[in-house]
Amino acid sequence: MPTVSLSFLNRGTVKQVCRICRELGEIKTERLCADCVRIKSQITVRFAEAVRGTIAIPDAQRCERLGCLCAACDVGTLGSHPLYLFDLTRADRREIHFHPRCHELWLEIGGRRPEQDTGISQG
Ligand SMILES: [Zn+2]
Ligand SMILES: [Zn+2]
Ligand SMILES: [Zn+2]
Repeated sequence: MPTVSLSFLNRGTVKQVCRICRELGEIKTERLCADCVRIKSQITVRFAEAVRGTIAIPDAQRCERLGCLCAACDVGTLGSHPLYLFDLTRADRREIHFHPRCHELWLEIGGRRPEQDTGISQG
């Protein structure tokens, strides 16, 4: 495993700002809070095919509906948010709604080729 310098984290404080949701909290890994780490791992599991590049990822659209269920964290949306329409097969269309925060995590995973599958850490 490559060693990453974490010297910039050594400030003597336990709580830090998550780089995705900007919440002050305990930072777990990759400068993400526990919530974002959990959501990110759920995206990795649920959209494994898209993450691996097995299925094409469509362009993001804008959904203005309220109360859509976020595909990453299973919580209803509150405002306008990104939407993906996946054409899995000709008959099977899937709408994937994300919170803006979850979408950032999605972009990190989907936009980048995953390194080796090391599994989900037990924390
Ligand atoms: Zn976070
Ligand atoms: Zn929606
Ligand atoms: Zn979400």
